Amino acid sequence: MQMHQITGPDDATKKENFWLDQGVDNFKAYMFITPAELSAAIVAAHKRGAKVTGHLCSIGFREAAALGIDDLEHGLLVDTEFMPGKKAGECPEEPEDPVLTAKLDVNAGPLHEMILDLVQHHVAVTSTLPVFEMGSFPGRPTMQKRVLDALSPDARSAVLERRVRASDSSRMREEYKSDVSPWPAAFKKEMEFEHAFVQAGGLLLAGLDPTGMGGVIAGFGDQREVELLVEAGFTPVEAIHIATLNGAQYLGDADKIGTIAAGKQADLVVIKGDPSKKIEDIENVETVFKDGIGYDSAKLIESVRGVVGSR
Ligand SMILES: [Zn+2]
Repeated sequence: MQMHQITGPDDATKKENFWLDQGVDNFKAYMFITPAELSAAIVAAHKRGAKVTGHLCSIGFREAAALGIDDLEHGLLVDTEFMPGKKAGECPEEPEDPVLTAKLDVNAGPLHEMILDLVQHHVAVTSTLPVFEMGSFPGRPTMQKRVLDALSPDARSAVLERRVRASDSSRMREEYKSDVSPWPAAFKKEMEFEHAFVQAGGLLLAGLDPTGMGGVIAGFGDQREVELLVEAGFTPVEAIHIATLNGAQYLGDADKIGTIAAGKQADLVVIKGDPSKKIEDIENVETVFKDGIGYDSAKLIESVRGVVGSR
């Protein structure tokens, strides 16, 4: 992955064509991109069959849909379009407003219209519930031991310190003028949004975002995402499809990967238990097959114990 600060619409087209020439077929726009730059990036990508996703801030979801974006990262919590006083093409100083998010209604009004608009424009949404859960607010489980064991000592103490700071009640009173954290309600609203988006016919993808406070790590975080989708109201099988088939569909590779079928690539996991009934079983991976080659999960996890986050 490479991140470039672009200097205007022409530069967006130029940089993108460079990477298209190298075979890149998916681009991610980031928070401060201008509408003109995003538009140029989308036109250049689509011309050559590539796609553009975005973790946006300066541009709201409906505006991005109108520009032709293919996917929106992270979901409702990063959509700035409902903020009063939002200036066109500018990222607000506080890009997330959990108090406002919690008040929106998925069944009526502007949020409902936004959902219908995304579906109509065939814009996918990537759910990244684990990174929001890591924000450490009341009512969420403590960090899993297997995650803490995987992290290097430095990374582990940094994550734990950040979590303590995030849940500090005096800081919260200062920030939200309330003793009650707005995050549980905002997180619940994010889940409602993702469920309503799918009910309306939207293509939801599953991510985890292994960034944030550093406590969401690849693999374990992907499994946590599927568990959180079930908490959001999807059946276990629906949640598994979101994390497998939907991603393959978005990439245009559903004929090769995404489900288990004769003639498809052997990209699959062998799990002890039955996650279609008990979703937590998804954590019990025994073997991962990639292109037909099996990898022993326990051995792989053991080989990186205590080093994740150190380099
Ligand atoms: Zn992002």
